[in-house]
Amino acid sequence: MYRKLPRIEARAVIFRSNMSTLTELAEGLFSGSIEVIDLTSKLSSDTPILALPPEMGQTAAFELEEISKYDDRGPDWYWNNFRTGEHTGTHFDAPCHWASNKDGLDISEVPVQKMIGPAVVLDFCAQVAEDHDFLIEADHIKAWIEENGEIEPGSWLLIRTGWDAMTDTQERALNANETGPHSPGLSTDCATWVAENLPILGMGVETVGTDAGQAFAFDRPFPCHYEMSAANKWGITQLQNLDKLPARGAVVVALPLPIVKGSGSPARVVALVQR
Ligand code: MN
Repeated sequence: MYRKLPRIEARAVIFRSNMSTLTELAEGLFSGSIEVIDLTSKLSSDTPILALPPEMGQTAAFELEEISKYDDRGPDWYWNNFRTGEHTGTHFDAPCHWASNKDGLDISEVPVQKMIGPAVVLDFCAQVAEDHDFLIEADHIKAWIEENGEIEPGSWLLIRTGWDAMTDTQERALNANETGPHSPGLSTDCATWVAENLPILGMGVETVGTDAGQAFAFDRPFPCHYEMSAANKWGITQLQNLDKLPARGAVVVALPLPIVKGSGSPARVVALVQR
């Protein structure tokens, strides 16, 4: 009897210490010492969408269809149907989105445990202000690691470019002319290096898709989609408020809808930041 006591106490201590992390989190959320920053763009019929060459299938813009609004169709309630492409607004790309992983996980199969992780934020606003087609190279990321330390396993790699200021209209978001869309992203070599070498959950960007505007014309077209899908790493797009995050130390929660057989889904993405 007496000899069993220490074991029970040890178990109780472990239980208490597990509880205290979540209790501290809850207290921090309530007091505001942990701030929740919404990284999600609002969804409306004005939300920019990707435009492919006219001979290809096109994604649908977000649309609301009113069912009733406190009227003859339903006196006490207001509700809508909505229609949208899976890849509209702030959204989450599942591995099966790309031909490099046709049998990969659909969006309902992506484990929720792997949707939440620490964030590193790499800032390329200065370069992108000079060049809308700016391409991030592996050396840029290696230099960031040299200065800021290793990217820990299970992190979100967030790419800040200032493009969130451009996603208020379709025209500005795509920034297209006769040579196609012009927006920043990763080079083919960089996308390959990131997918193969960084122990990340996935990558998040401010642009409408994870690839650069000119990526359709790269040696390997759309390298971020190709490489990240193949490596079972997620992509999230059209993030806002990355300027409010520290370079490291935030925790990002990115939650898509579990659409069965879905290739992606609009997602609510938030960051927890200690103040
Ligand atoms: Mn997408």
